[in-house]
Amino acid sequence: MLVVMKERATLGEVEGVLTWVASRGGSAECHRPREAVIVVRPDDLDPGELAALPGVARIEGPRPGYWLASRRRQPEDTVVQVRGRRIGGENPPVLIAGPCAVESEDQLVRAARAAVEAGAQLLRGGAFKPRTSPYSFQGLGEEGLELLARVRERFDIPVVTELRDVGTLDLFLDYQVDMLQIGARNMQNFELLRAAGQSGIPVLLKRGPAASVEEWLMAAEYVMLSGNPNVVLCERGILPPSTVATRYQLDIAAIPIARSLTHLPVIADPSHAAGAREYVLPLAEAAIAAGAQGLLVEVHADPCQALCDGRQALTPPMARELMDRLRRHRYVPPMPTPVTRGAAWSRGDDLALAAGARGLRH
Ligand code: PEP
Ligand code: MN
Repeated sequence: MLVVMKERATLGEVEGVLTWVASRGGSAECHRPREAVIVVRPDDLDPGELAALPGVARIEGPRPGYWLASRRRQPEDTVVQVRGRRIGGENPPVLIAGPCAVESEDQLVRAARAAVEAGAQLLRGGAFKPRTSPYSFQGLGEEGLELLARVRERFDIPVVTELRDVGTLDLFLDYQVDMLQIGARNMQNFELLRAAGQSGIPVLLKRGPAASVEEWLMAAEYVMLSGNPNVVLCERGILPPSTVATRYQLDIAAIPIARSLTHLPVIADPSHAAGAREYVLPLAEAAIAAGAQGLLVEVHADPCQALCDGRQALTPPMARELMDRLRRHRYVPPMPTPVTRGAAWSRGDDLALAAGARGLRH
């Protein structure tokens, strides 16, 4: 719950609220003393009594249930750094690319080459795959982490891979994984979120296909409350109505909504949303036009042979075409080198045109 103090509240009145909460067994933090917004836990303290304390303007809550992740606490964007790669803020959209699963050294090297040639700043591949069927390929496990570590050195590119179980976190630390993905199925695996938070490794948090934007932000709050401010949110499609042809439905609106509610970077995964490679590029463009600060796409040098999600994997030329299109829209700078704040690139192109519409009716 948030206690918003009056503009002219005195320091004594702020302290009065903190003392009152403590005297009733709660805990309170004054995150922004100058604006005097106080976050109170637990949420079951009597809001009526709190509202009556001197200097209090109003009580907000108990929803939304997140504070560290909220834009109210931090109006300016967070920039998450992964081995020097910057995600969020005014930085050009980041491309995270790679195969769904690490299958072999040769496969990973070919996918990494395609990702790097397309301009990807991070390489992603799953070593521990969450699969709906227990008969499907489950990933190479530790061998996959070892291959990722080797290919990272070869291409000098940080790696992202999914942490599926708390029990394997030590292995991820041993192989110095640069960023942990928490998959859609695990968005509300609270022990996993806490463990990812305690690890201190930047986290890529996918939205569950049935989760609201607020639930997604509360999941991010678990990570942040465990001491890890480096969370990147990833929209990857929600459960579609039966009339929708794609695997999931990319929730374009969730991108600006999440960005208005949180300071954390928001990226999009058009691959899992589309489920078919031919739709990935237009969805990617639409996501960036809507304000996504990066993309996560699956790339495979030989998608027909992929052990996992081959149908949605981009071929290497398609990955290059994706970046060409983003450059054409000037969503990313013309040269694949980082640009500084204020450089001449913009998200000026219209969302509908980016998604493939041939014209606009006004
Ligand atoms: C994946 O990233 O390969 C994956 C399984 O994604 P999601 O958790 O979004 O289903
Ligand atoms: Mn996949």
